[in-house]
Amino acid sequence: MKPFAYLRPDTVDEAVRARAAHPGAAFLGGGTNLVDLMKLGACAPDLLIDVGRLPLDRIEELPDGGLRIGATVRNSDLAAAPVVQERYPVLSQALLAGASGQLRNAATTGGNLLQRTRCAYFQDVSTPCNKREPGSGCPAVEGVHRDLAVLGHSAHCVATHPSDLAVALAALDAAVEATGPDGARTVPVTALHRLPGEHPERDTVLEPGELITAVRLPPPPPLAHGRYRKARDRASYAFALVSVAALLEVRDGVVHHAALAYGGLAHRPWRATAAEEALRGAPATADTFGRAADAELSAARPLRDNGFKVPLARRLTVSVLGALAARHR
Ligand SMILES: Cc1cc2nc3c(=O)[nH]c(=O)nc-3n(C[C@H](O)[C@H](O)[C@H](O)COP(=O)(O)OP(=O)(O)OC[C@H]3O[C@@H](n4cnc5c(N)ncnc54)[C@H](O)[C@@H]3O)c2cc1C
Ligand code: SF4
Repeated sequence: MKPFAYLRPDTVDEAVRARAAHPGAAFLGGGTNLVDLMKLGACAPDLLIDVGRLPLDRIEELPDGGLRIGATVRNSDLAAAPVVQERYPVLSQALLAGASGQLRNAATTGGNLLQRTRCAYFQDVSTPCNKREPGSGCPAVEGVHRDLAVLGHSAHCVATHPSDLAVALAALDAAVEATGPDGARTVPVTALHRLPGEHPERDTVLEPGELITAVRLPPPPPLAHGRYRKARDRASYAFALVSVAALLEVRDGVVHHAALAYGGLAHRPWRATAAEEALRGAPATADTFGRAADAELSAARPLRDNGFKVPLARRLTVSVLGALAARHR
């Protein structure tokens, strides 16, 4: 591993200033992704700015009924918080579907959102990879890509975003608060992660040096039920092949409110707006749910070995929405 310096700032300002002064620095949350990548040589910051102990570890209820989750709240604490389990169960379920207990104890909210892709070529420095080394090529297009994208990919990168948390947050209309050298701003989670286009080296719209300080959730739709389901190769300790986060409210047999996001299909959590449009005002039946999934997934462009993700996503959608509709009967 390349030698690096370590800094543990006491305030957000100090962290942001230190990052601005060191272009080769990186923020360190729980380190469960960044340190692994450093050991593999896939990234080599010369300074780690440990933000894991900044005073950003609170979960606050907001006057409007929403929630503000500090960036250093650990995944385990967030999943177990009674206010999350009661009012945002889809969020708790998504977190508990990710990684392992030990990893969740260390992983932070901000770090989870900004974890890098699990594409094997990205982690293997003996191979080219446009995300790790812009312009070097994308061996995954013709190579091993069973786990990779079917939506929104480009000739330059077909990676997927691995976070379960981000998928639930996308369905919940969450927003990220970030602070950088130019001040603070708020970015909707659905606009945080980029599609790869010609610049897969950029995962998100955050500028280098912007620190995530919190995630803000609007009040949950009062009568909607939520659920997260994840299909994967093993029952635990595995990333999503496909996952679905859904919120559904049914009145008199008709869909009144629907929010749907997919994981495992694209370079970002995929908010399924075409499916939502097809659901709104339609009878809450399996036929409607299948048609809604088709409306979204008709844009899919599977690679040689990952076409199975499309029918899998359809089946998961029908099953999750069916289970949520049953709760309204
Ligand atoms: C074996 C294994 C299985 C896993 N399975 C899953 C899974 O099924 N689902 C899932 O979602 N995840 C899974 N993970 C990933 C795990 O959830 C992430 O590693 C973790 O959430 C990252 O959080 P962290 O705080 O440790 O981030 P770090 O490793 O500290 O940082 C990750 C990135 O975020 C940046 N960063 C950290 N905090 C901030 C901040 N506040 N502002 C700006 N930048 C920041 C860092 O610079 C770095 O680039 C798995 C990991 C492992 C090792
Ligand atoms: S899919 Fe993206 S991350 Fe994977 S090799 Fe291609 S450019 Fe790299």
